[in-house]
Amino acid sequence: MKIGLFGGTFDPIHLGHLRAVKEVAERFGLVKTILIPAAQPPHKPHLDIAPARDRLEMIRLAVASREVFEISDIELKRTGPSYTIDTLRHFNNLPGAGGRTYYLIMGLDAFLEIDTWKAYLDIFKQAPVIIMARPSTGAGTGSPSWGRVAEFIGNKISREYRCSDREARHAGGEYKPIHFMDVSLLDISGTRIREFVHKGKSIQFLVPEKVERYIRQRGLYQ
Ligand code: ATP
Repeated sequence: MKIGLFGGTFDPIHLGHLRAVKEVAERFGLVKTILIPAAQPPHKPHLDIAPARDRLEMIRLAVASREVFEISDIELKRTGPSYTIDTLRHFNNLPGAGGRTYYLIMGLDAFLEIDTWKAYLDIFKQAPVIIMARPSTGAGTGSPSWGRVAEFIGNKISREYRCSDREARHAGGEYKPIHFMDVSLLDISGTRIREFVHKGKSIQFLVPEKVERYIRQRGLYQ
């Protein structure tokens, strides 16, 4: 059984996240995707982020009654910064994990910074990775994005990866495959949504309706 793991600040969750994950799930046959809000993102320590319970509640509202999504508060329960490697180990050590393959889903920007993450090489031993990229940046063989990713994989992860079209497989099998996929990356970000709310602009059609209402009711991002 294939399961996606998708982490982020989700401050707030928006339609860009949901649409991208939907396309990934369809393409890779993921039976479900687990959304994992981060407590204190290690790479954004300066950020003043909304309380965890608000971010969690907005995810709940966004995916309510959609069975292909699950939410995990594992990173919120841990004290200190959230590290992806700890989260992957947690899922891979759950009872029955032998019958499941967890895929780590992330955006291209996040992937190209992964060498700054804790024990990042171990991440590739724990789970196959799916990198989402904008189609407009081109993702075919020899395209700038995939070319950059392939170069990064060779330089920072392992020279033993064999890169073909949108896929890298490790010759020794020690590291899991890395996949690359074009998704309809909607030009939406948490930053922009917070800014719009702060300026009193509408965020309709950027977030699910229930999330929009929740932000208003709770007075978030004012
Ligand atoms: P912020 O603007 O606060 O940094 P964000 O919306 O860019 O927030 P996070 O919630 O931290 O992002 O992102 C979680 C994951 O979602 C990351 O892997 C990021 O690359 C990806 N992501 C963010 N925005 C989009 C989008 N519009 N489409 C697809 N993936 C996205």
